[in-house]
Amino acid sequence: MNILVVGANGQIGKHLVKYIQESGEHQAKAMIRKQEQEQYFKDLGAETALVDLEGSIDDIAKAVEGVDAIVFTAGSGPHTGPDKTILIDLDGAVKTIEAAKQVGVKRFVMVSSFDTSREAVLEAPDSFSPYVAAKLYADEWLLNTDLDYTIVHPGRLTNDSGTGKVQVAEKVERGSIPREDVAKVLLATVDNDSLIGKRFQLVEGDTAVEDALKSL
Ligand code: NAP
Repeated sequence: MNILVVGANGQIGKHLVKYIQESGEHQAKAMIRKQEQEQYFKDLGAETALVDLEGSIDDIAKAVEGVDAIVFTAGSGPHTGPDKTILIDLDGAVKTIEAAKQVGVKRFVMVSSFDTSREAVLEAPDSFSPYVAAKLYADEWLLNTDLDYTIVHPGRLTNDSGTGKVQVAEKVERGSIPREDVAKVLLATVDNDSLIGKRFQLVEGDTAVEDALKSL
């Protein structure tokens, strides 16, 4: 499977591209926005596509050409304001979904926020609510397509070493999860047709990734 990783230069993205390349059965195409970011991916033997999510759907569609699946793990991050939250976390995600539709790539895995319910938007602190709202509407956009989607809702991300053990369900208690383990779950998800049309929360746990995903 040829997998486009959108947000490949991010912390989850870099782990994911590495795991895809190490899998021996899949090939990553890393969507990044700066030329100087290319070398890491070339060293892994991954293809790259230089595209800024603030560009057009057609630009993103060029990166989508030739892949079998897309994982969206981009984000504007905590150091920019609500303007970039709208442009990347919401519109960047929507444009990627539209690019997938345009090119005819059906499989789409979205890295969402832990809770994108309307209540979560209302309950979030002022500084966080635009982000949750952006993620809510990006999820809604995806749900209203006929793409083969899976929406992954990870808890608070950490840079602890992954354990390969997780807890997944439609609803789990709020918790944290190492980015390495999120990347493992994303790889196991994108290749798993039984997860099409599903969404689940993800935190650290006691169950091996493959077994945990079988419970969904
Ligand atoms: P990250 O390290 O901040 O990576 C985000 C990536 O998005 C970066 O590589 C960044 O590119 C890319 N990006 C930003 N603007 C872009 C643009 N205009 N065009 C193309 N790419 C752009 O994030 P992470 O820690 O890996 O997290 C990934 C995902 O998890 C995000 O969707 C986030 O919302 C979600 N999430 C986070 C948490 C949390 O606790 N932090 C919890 C649940 C879900 P550059 O490298 O060029 O800057």
